[in-house]
Amino acid sequence: MSAQNLPYDLIIKNVHLVRPKSTSIDALDIGIAGGKIAALGINLDPATAHETYDGKGLLAFPGLVDAHMHTGIYSPLEKDALTESRAAAMGGVTSSLNYMRTGQYYLNKSAPYKEFFPEVLAISNGRFYVDYCYHLAPMMKEHIAEMPMLARDMGVTSFKIFMFYGSHGLHGRSASQKDFLMIPDDEKYDIAHFEFVMRGAKKAMDENPALRDIISVSLHCETAEIMTAYTKIVETEGKLSGLPAYSASRPPHSEGLAIFIASYLAHETALPNINLLHLTSRKAVDAAMMMQMVFPHINFRREVTVGHLLMDTDLKPPSMRSEDKEFLKDKAKRDLEWTQLFAKVNPPIRPRPDVEYLWEALLEGNIDWVCSDHACCSAEMKTDASSPDNVFVAKSGFGGAEYLLSGMFSEGSKRGMSANRVAELCSWNPAERYGLKSKGDLGIGFDADVVLFDPNETFTVRASESPSAQGYTPFEGMELTGRVKTTFLRGKKIFENGNVVGEPSGKYLSRPYTA
Ligand SMILES: [Zn+2]
Repeated sequence: MSAQNLPYDLIIKNVHLVRPKSTSIDALDIGIAGGKIAALGINLDPATAHETYDGKGLLAFPGLVDAHMHTGIYSPLEKDALTESRAAAMGGVTSSLNYMRTGQYYLNKSAPYKEFFPEVLAISNGRFYVDYCYHLAPMMKEHIAEMPMLARDMGVTSFKIFMFYGSHGLHGRSASQKDFLMIPDDEKYDIAHFEFVMRGAKKAMDENPALRDIISVSLHCETAEIMTAYTKIVETEGKLSGLPAYSASRPPHSEGLAIFIASYLAHETALPNINLLHLTSRKAVDAAMMMQMVFPHINFRREVTVGHLLMDTDLKPPSMRSEDKEFLKDKAKRDLEWTQLFAKVNPPIRPRPDVEYLWEALLEGNIDWVCSDHACCSAEMKTDASSPDNVFVAKSGFGGAEYLLSGMFSEGSKRGMSANRVAELCSWNPAERYGLKSKGDLGIGFDADVVLFDPNETFTVRASESPSAQGYTPFEGMELTGRVKTTFLRGKKIFENGNVVGEPSGKYLSRPYTA
């Protein structure tokens, strides 16, 4: 065989293959050609490949499909894409699905998507270390009319509704909604708008029947009126602070009610595919399961974030979560610089019983995927310098893609979750829903997105080790078992032993995406 005609570009030798929807983990070699998986076999001959990589018996997960990220929300997209996709690569994420909209934050402007989205793609081009695509939020009537075109011509098949944006500010206090949403004066971002977004998605399906299964609407389910009223109660009473205050100000029934409204609207508009994003509480999960029973013809998907699975409202300072001597050397400094408000997010981090209920729902198969909801918000931006302890003026969101796989594996294993199930929740299920047909599994013909993972390595989370621009993490000091050692994107090494390697080579995944 001549060197030019070798069947494989790369063989990853000696791994334990973790496939979703499987109960076994087999010792195999992975043969890769043209960026795709070309063979899975025992003892593939190194002489048949240009290069071999020793997998050292580690687990090989399919690259993670992070269904929910917010690249470009708090700092310019061109900058955020570079740093936050590095954080993704560190976490084993190879497909980054980002929520994007017009209005305040992101590109800070309003325009029809036919102008706005090509600009987003132009900025993104060459700046992602992992593959990426976008979910778009129709903010105004004009956007709704564009939905069939976005699906047909721009590869955008998933859309978002932020149910509380109409009258409740992003960070807890109502700000000027018009400045925030940037929608025409005679329009409202309300339940009627949500109905018409769903009708727009249905129209996109009807006009593009081949895309029917991969077109969906995702909803952030919280009810503005409930949150506004409870925020006032919590602030007036003044008994709670930090994460417990924020959770009480956005109570779980605010999620439950929004889930009922969202589900009924999907029924009314005959929209078969809706995704209930980041459920955080028993009430939210129960409401979602009730709706599944009432509307069995709707293909619901239910999402949970790694933050809501790893943290509760009693979140302790880093030194109280670690036994690592090295880490604890500058204990005082670490704790001083860290605040519980770093974990502020919408919907809020909940008390422990809700967290354990999410795990039960996961183990029962009632949750479809786990994501990071990665939104890099720097420390300077996160809290308000004039009242650094006030949770209601701090900004919402934080990064976490770095810890998605480790967090799920570490906490999941303790509760009896198999690695195969982790692969289903973090790779296969979101890929299937969102039309990434050759992502999310390690089968022949799939993109060679491979994560080599040491299930036995325990490490302490340190923000200083992340390539993210955030500079802190609410996960600081957590001890996790299971660590990403190497990440391959379409057969190319992008992360190894703590370092991102190479130039950004992520590409836009126009959907349906097939290799
Ligand atoms: Zn989000």
